[in-house]
Amino acid sequence: MLPFNVTILGNGSAVPTSFQNPTSQLVTYGSKRFMIDCGEGTQMQMIKYKTGHKHIDHIFISHLHGDHFFGLIGIINTFHLFGRKNPLHIYAPAAVKKVIDVQLGVSLTTLRYPLVYHALEKMNNKPLYEDKNLIVSCFPLNHRIPAFGFVFKEKASDRKLKKSFVSEFNPSIEQIHAVKSGLDYETETGILISNREITDDPPAPRSYAFCSDTAYTEEILPFIKNVDLLYHEATFDNSQEHLARDKFHSTAAQAALIAQKAHAGKLLLGHFSARFKEKEHLLKEAEVVFNNSELSVEGECYEI
Ligand SMILES: [Zn+2]
Repeated sequence: MLPFNVTILGNGSAVPTSFQNPTSQLVTYGSKRFMIDCGEGTQMQMIKYKTGHKHIDHIFISHLHGDHFFGLIGIINTFHLFGRKNPLHIYAPAAVKKVIDVQLGVSLTTLRYPLVYHALEKMNNKPLYEDKNLIVSCFPLNHRIPAFGFVFKEKASDRKLKKSFVSEFNPSIEQIHAVKSGLDYETETGILISNREITDDPPAPRSYAFCSDTAYTEEILPFIKNVDLLYHEATFDNSQEHLARDKFHSTAAQAALIAQKAHAGKLLLGHFSARFKEKEHLLKEAEVVFNNSELSVEGECYEI
């Protein structure tokens, strides 16, 4: 199986503090890496956690509140100074282009590589990114300004050939492809062997969803159903449900309710308020609703 994991670079909300950074994370799939959000200080976190800059060709920005994208111009500029040639794809609300154009314009910077913008408003129900193993799509969240969640889904892999099938029948390349795709096998004497007898099930496809920032909304459930790992914002605690509602954020318990209703494998809580240096009570409130909850930790890498 290819590596599939997420490294948390920042899990704080609103402002940087001595103990947490604004939102950013790196999803690794095989040799590819995808950045989600790029708050202020993201590059310093990358240096601190020694992630390097290589193989990052796609950056997904959930929405245009500063704590989710104020680091973007910095990383764009660093790629330029490092002599990058490959295109960098930015998936974000359309207005991000205006901001970046102004920032590059006033500093008379002509990038050495192409920036390719993909407006999220136009991408609903269409894949943002797709290769032979992975598909990334977005869906609307419920926030004060347009905001989007992201879901990374591994595609189903081919069926696994049993060794005994290969040694016994010595199939051709074409026959191997056919059997891997699920077809039955016909021997030279015309006997049909069912696919189940000569293959094993492949590993179940894995998936990851990112939901920040959002008020509690069950409208996201169809998009994140059965994900193995769900990162969901938990800006507030139970005593602040009114604040969560007013500010279009979620409590830890609401995040857990979403995880439970989505039948997620595991919940990773994040986007913590700077009010909470200690966050154990958020975890306890979530665990009451959804047992397999965890507080995200900056610098940690979570397997999907
Ligand atoms: Zn926000």
